[in-house]
Amino acid sequence: MIIVLKSHVTKSSPAFQELMAFLDQKPGISVRVHEEVGALMTLTEVYLIGDTSALDKAEIETLPGVERVVRIEEEYRVLGRHHDDQRPTGFEYNGVRFAQDTLNVFAGLCAVDNPKHVEEMMKALAANGQVCTRMGAYKPRTNPYSFQGHGASCLPWVFELAGKHGIRVIAMEITHDSHLDEIRDALRISGSPTGVMLQIGTRNTQNFELLKIVGRQHEFPVLLKRGFGITLEESLNAAEYIASEGNRNVIFGLRGMKTNMGDPHRNFVDFAHVPVVKRLTRMPVCIDPSHSVGSRDRGPDGILDIQHVTAQAVVAGANMVLVDFHPAPQKALVDGPQALLLSELPYFLEDVQIAREAYLQRVAAAARFALEGRAKAAS
Ligand code: PEP
Ligand code: MN
Repeated sequence: MIIVLKSHVTKSSPAFQELMAFLDQKPGISVRVHEEVGALMTLTEVYLIGDTSALDKAEIETLPGVERVVRIEEEYRVLGRHHDDQRPTGFEYNGVRFAQDTLNVFAGLCAVDNPKHVEEMMKALAANGQVCTRMGAYKPRTNPYSFQGHGASCLPWVFELAGKHGIRVIAMEITHDSHLDEIRDALRISGSPTGVMLQIGTRNTQNFELLKIVGRQHEFPVLLKRGFGITLEESLNAAEYIASEGNRNVIFGLRGMKTNMGDPHRNFVDFAHVPVVKRLTRMPVCIDPSHSVGSRDRGPDGILDIQHVTAQAVVAGANMVLVDFHPAPQKALVDGPQALLLSELPYFLEDVQIAREAYLQRVAAAARFALEGRAKAAS
């Protein structure tokens, strides 16, 4: 059960003390308080843990300071979309809004290689009105002899170039808690010219200690990739680990599943789960068409498979696209064969926009159809 408090009520309000005294008398119930600190106000939610079945929802709603009570299912307590749950989705980070009704494209390098390529990428993004990118500094690689990413050494110049070209959010994978400290230090030393979204890759979806660490900090939002060989439920629980530690600014990323059934794609594209994740949880949903498809193959219509699967996801309401580009893919140190070219960026963005408009038309048609149905039922 979640008790949502009125916007003016905080932990120090008398109404809060009264609620705590009321809950204290209930056997077997413990509470966890979550405060969402916004620019204008702090929203306080009280999570009740234990057997809440004997509690009277209506009675609690009569207590002073209580806005609403939401009965929650056992699963995804914080991130889940519960019965009668009108709480908003999403968050704002460094001036960019992420929610279940927005769309952000993160085009960029799979792996940071050199300042020239990073700057060419960022210049192209700025020229196309983009303020988000992806830049891998810590690369988890199958082969121990493959390039592992430049790590902390590249952070100062990557952040500086991002600031120079107006990039506000960089999605960057971390594989160890020390990487979080390195990112924080590099941002501080460079005067925070940009923001970072911490990416937890598919190989670490169930690295619970890492999830808890990114969950305990509130500075950076987290993009959690779905585990490539586990169920959707298991991956959603991994996201809940982050939120249960206190950080609810979590985006869920679909990136394909490992099975030969998806051949010739690198992974079996799982973007049919975009609306499923949006129904089960309040997380914005990201898709990664590059690591799903893994090649520049194109259909007989001339459109790349990467673009086709992107459009399929966007037309179904995806909220974020994480996609590999490179100024010179043949020179890329990681995943060159799946990278799109900088000359393709405006066209890629146009294609995404076409799919987004189709999605918005579909939502409008669904609303119209529901309204007509209600009018018919009433007549
Ligand atoms: C990546 O986005 O660079 C990456 C390695 O993705 P994944 O964890 O989905 O394989
Ligand atoms: Mn990659």
